[in-house]
Amino acid sequence: MGRLEGKVALISGGARGQGECEARLFAREGSSVVFGDILDEEGRKVEAEIVSSGGIALYVHLDVTSERDWKSAVDAAERRFGRLDILVNNAGVSFRHPELELTREDWERTMSVNSTGVFLGTKCAVPAMKRVGGGSIVNISSIAGIAGRPLVSPAYAASKGAVTAFTKLVAARFAGYGIRCNSIHPGPIDTDMIRSPDNEVPPAARAEGVPLGRLGQSEDVAFGALYLASDESSFVTATELVIDGGVTGIRP
Ligand code: NAD
Repeated sequence: MGRLEGKVALISGGARGQGECEARLFAREGSSVVFGDILDEEGRKVEAEIVSSGGIALYVHLDVTSERDWKSAVDAAERRFGRLDILVNNAGVSFRHPELELTREDWERTMSVNSTGVFLGTKCAVPAMKRVGGGSIVNISSIAGIAGRPLVSPAYAASKGAVTAFTKLVAARFAGYGIRCNSIHPGPIDTDMIRSPDNEVPPAARAEGVPLGRLGQSEDVAFGALYLASDESSFVTATELVIDGGVTGIRP
């Protein structure tokens, strides 16, 4: 029996990286998985692979900055699988913006995906969760959303801080409906995001700053998301799960 048997999950940014890993893991654990991204070709390929290995998955085009896309994604989950129990707000972007030299447009581009996207997803998913008497929302923030990190883009840090605070508001507002909401705070994870030339620090240099001596892998975060999504965490809400190899908790 899978840890998510009978549940229906919606995951944003699921075409690659951590979101893809979560889509595959959740399907292996018995969930029906609706996942969306703006990378449609990659997303459809992941969908085909999950289905061919016996999982239940549906890829949808989902730009998290579009309320209409979110509405269609939630509708797709309910129409196809009858309900929505889990939302993982995973989609995110990070651009290189040293110091405060970024433009207002740069700032808003980051905020609209990383913060507004989480708001819109939550807004569209909560009514569906109320209809089934509860649910679990897992928001992927960052260690930059809880601690000052000098090399991180100011817009990225602010966008992830907004996710941290919004998570607690949602947890407080909807606890009475059986809806839980928690945030995950990954440290450096070995995905395209940190390999991108847009990024401030090369991956190898990042690993050096991790007490456990390596970059995190997508699975490290996906297992945390699985726990928070499942009923194993039924007494857990408004909390911050840090998955960072010790970066924020260990002082040299
Ligand atoms: P990634 O770049 O591999 O994946 C991000 C995914 O989000 C991509 O598939 C991308 O297409 C998608 N996306 C971007 N804009 C979108 C939009 N408007 N609508 C829908 N999808 C969109 O990176 P990742 O590491 O897998 O990132 C996943 C999450 O983890 C992000 O929220 C990121 O900020 C967060 N995070 C990453 C790290 C890291 O070191 N990699 C650390 C902390 C937090």
